[in-house]
Amino acid sequence: MYDWLIVGAGFAGSVLAERLANERGDRVLVIDRRNHIGGNAYDRYDDAGLLIHQYGPHIFHTNAKPILDYLSRFTEWRPYEHRVLAEVDGQQVPIPINLDTVNRLYGLDLESEELEAWFAERAERVEQIRTSEDVVVSKVGRELYEKFFRGYTRKQWGVDPSELDKSVTARVPTRTNRDDRYFGDEFQVMPKHGYTRMFESMLSSPNINVMLQTDYRDVRDLIPHRRTIFTGPIDEFFGHRFGRLPYRSLRFDHVTLDTEQHQPVAVVNYPQTQDYTRVTEYKYLTGQVHPKTSLTYEYPAADGDPYYPVPRPENEELFKKYEKLANATSDVWFVGRLATYRYYNMDQVVGQALATFRRISEALPADADTREVRSLGANALAS
Ligand code: FAD
Ligand code: UDP
Repeated sequence: MYDWLIVGAGFAGSVLAERLANERGDRVLVIDRRNHIGGNAYDRYDDAGLLIHQYGPHIFHTNAKPILDYLSRFTEWRPYEHRVLAEVDGQQVPIPINLDTVNRLYGLDLESEELEAWFAERAERVEQIRTSEDVVVSKVGRELYEKFFRGYTRKQWGVDPSELDKSVTARVPTRTNRDDRYFGDEFQVMPKHGYTRMFESMLSSPNINVMLQTDYRDVRDLIPHRRTIFTGPIDEFFGHRFGRLPYRSLRFDHVTLDTEQHQPVAVVNYPQTQDYTRVTEYKYLTGQVHPKTSLTYEYPAADGDPYYPVPRPENEELFKKYEKLANATSDVWFVGRLATYRYYNMDQVVGQALATFRRISEALPADADTREVRSLGANALAS
């Protein structure tokens, strides 16, 4: 009898497995329907021997020191500041939009203060900022919005930015200085030996078993367990009974080139041209030295593995219905990007999993839990 059946070996599932096994001595089974651990953060060496990210570029960044400290138990880090260029009007210029972006695109020589005024002249007055269009046009005006955001967002999400919650494009700041880093967080690092090695270390407790290529739907009634942590799509857990929650998918085209370097930075975005949104060259992320180089092209898709919740009001409304069901389902905890339908970065998922562990510890003190299990018998607690 397992104390916990954890569905999904990504950040949400692995952090909880680690905490429950190592902090409480609980017996944990982690299952994943894929053939590897790590969820979307999984990385591997390709045929040429280059470390690549199977599901697109994953860069760790956070302002939360406790989250970094927690993960530091399982990996060493390599400092890495992410930089991205966008190919606009035939030039590759920095994104987030900054002083150099505007000067290069328009052949100007503005200083930071002048750029503030330049933006202010172009910014549109928006009464209430609700959508992903509002966020950008109210800061930099319609022309830059159309060059950098409208096409990319339509490609990535299959809908116009005016139909997406403001939180989507608000992920990308606008700067009036020359800072060309993609993220502004205090801590920006990559796991020194890759994400998969870090996950192996998290899941190394003798109290944790891992079963891959195992779908919850096939084994939920076969594996004796007391409680469940579910990190897959929440609508799938409930048999889509209120209808499907939309998730955006991607197709990843991984290629290796017989050249040492392909592009000037780790990621180049294509907001105006191409069917793909961006191209990633992994050597920048990993620091690997190799005579060849490996890249990933990302092609957005409506169907396929669910990667992104789609933040818009009607989807949030549908999610709330599932959330209500989830709250009424005893002995199952829903955690992670797909199960809580949140466009979370890795650090936010780790934070959410650690908070869930604290809630579990309060609800089920380790000793009391054992006593409760003994007195009630296993069946009474199995959901
Ligand atoms: P997942 O990693 O999706 O793990 C869930 C696991 O559950 C999956 O492995 C799945 O196979 C398994 N599962 C689902 N249903 C079942 C079932 N029925 N039975 C068995 N197993 C099941 N974050 C950053 O911080 N920085 C970045 O640079 C970054 N880049 C990203 C780029 C892309 C292209 C994508 C898609 C995401 C990116 N993220 C990034 C976000 C990051 O991937 C997520 O925050 C994080 O991986 C979510 O972890 P999770 O455990 O919630 O979900
Ligand atoms: N975005 C854009 N143009 C860009 C970069 C981002 O329009 O050059 C928008 C787009 O809607 C994207 C969102 O901003 O989905 C968030 O970008 P981010 O790079 O954070 O996306 P992720 O890495 O999560 O795919």
